[in-house]
Amino acid sequence: MNISENSTTLLSIENISKSFISAEGQELLVLDSINFKLREGEIVSLLGKSGSGKSTLLRLMAGLIKPSSGNLFYRNTPIHAPVQGIAMVFQTFALLPWLTVLENVELGLEALGVESKERRKRALKAIDTIGLDGFESAYPKELSGGMRQRVGFARALVVEPDVLLMDEPFSALDILTTDNLRSDLIDLWTSKRTKIKGIVCVTHDIEEAILMADRIVIFASDPGTIQAEITVDLPYPRDTESLAFRELLDQIYMEMTKSERSRIAKAKAQALLQAAHEEEPTEHPEYAYRLPVVDISELIGLVEAMEDHEVDGVINLPVLAESLHLDVNNVFPLTEMLDMMRFAKISEGEIAFTDAGKKFANSNIQERKQIFAQHLLQYIPLAQHIRHILDREPSHRTPESTFLNELQNYFSEEESERILRTIIDLGRYAEILAYDYDSGELSLENPQ
Ligand code: ADP
Ligand code: MG
Repeated sequence: MNISENSTTLLSIENISKSFISAEGQELLVLDSINFKLREGEIVSLLGKSGSGKSTLLRLMAGLIKPSSGNLFYRNTPIHAPVQGIAMVFQTFALLPWLTVLENVELGLEALGVESKERRKRALKAIDTIGLDGFESAYPKELSGGMRQRVGFARALVVEPDVLLMDEPFSALDILTTDNLRSDLIDLWTSKRTKIKGIVCVTHDIEEAILMADRIVIFASDPGTIQAEITVDLPYPRDTESLAFRELLDQIYMEMTKSERSRIAKAKAQALLQAAHEEEPTEHPEYAYRLPVVDISELIGLVEAMEDHEVDGVINLPVLAESLHLDVNNVFPLTEMLDMMRFAKISEGEIAFTDAGKKFANSNIQERKQIFAQHLLQYIPLAQHIRHILDREPSHRTPESTFLNELQNYFSEEESERILRTIIDLGRYAEILAYDYDSGELSLENPQ
């Protein structure tokens, strides 16, 4: 579609920042100075790692939450509350089980005070548009996941929105269903069968972003900022095998590994800075770093897959991710962890083993555990911190809540939980700590 600078601006986000207050009363800066415009005629994808603030930005656009500073406008009118012209599609919909498809779709209109005959007419039209005809009288439990998500779309369409916001609308669906629903949606858009003038779609799937969007906005994390924007000037339907598509894929990987590098570099710089001022009480201890959330078996699986994909000492990340069917949410935390632990080095779009990483890959199980333990304690401050506390305690036992409370000074409750789970998982593999599920206690594996 032709989108020029002169196209009407649908949404305008000006210098938005958003902080949340953690359970421990600390301020968490989630979005920092975001500027963004959605113009008439475009689909924009917001792409970024988990936790980079994409959903928060979408909720701000929908008027569901308020910014800490900055301004938002919908067609030049400030957004203070949910706006009638803007509809939202979520990852999963809470459909009311005792209502039929038709009644579930009508629900969105009841709130707007539309009278019942008109409600029915418009709901039937939305159901037809999204390909649910024949299922009007079905109950949610009779529907597959894909059909249920179509009800979610119909619920958004029935209000005849001007702007459609979607938050990972396909991520709960299988690949076939996703392909099917996504191409139906693109078809709906290009054929102009709805009144929708602009779409913002959050995703963590790079290919999905290139398949759908006119423009891709890439987020960097901690705090969430816009790192890059990439224009996709390809006709629909887009061919994932075409050269232009592959080039865009490489370009995006390049950008996303850049943000990862700068994040790691920033954390290291901060740690150095703190080490230099050790006599003063530090505000942000070194262990309070948002560890990438990984699973130990996936991490080792990745190391093994990397060996198979090594060409001239480097591994192409898009190729590696594709061969393992991993998307951004899976691949980047893993590569980042390998980088932090000095088993690999990420550079733009590529990853390479370090000597230690190579040695790890080529060792047997016991040797691997030793190397892993050594690197975990040397390079991951949270592992050091936990180990230090356990060493200090006469019983060499500490309830996990102690560490959770500490983390909650810097991260949300969920995030703290995820970070602690990760370090326990890695620590158990390395046999540097033990965890008792029943008592919720961490302890030393071999106290002597
Ligand atoms: P994304 O959608 O990119 O994964 P989110 O916008 O959901 O990211 O979250 C960004 C960060 O903000 C995360 O660290 C998350 O824990 C935090 N966060 C989101 N909502 C809240 C909230 N209501 N209270 C505290 N922290 C929150
Ligand atoms: Mg999200």
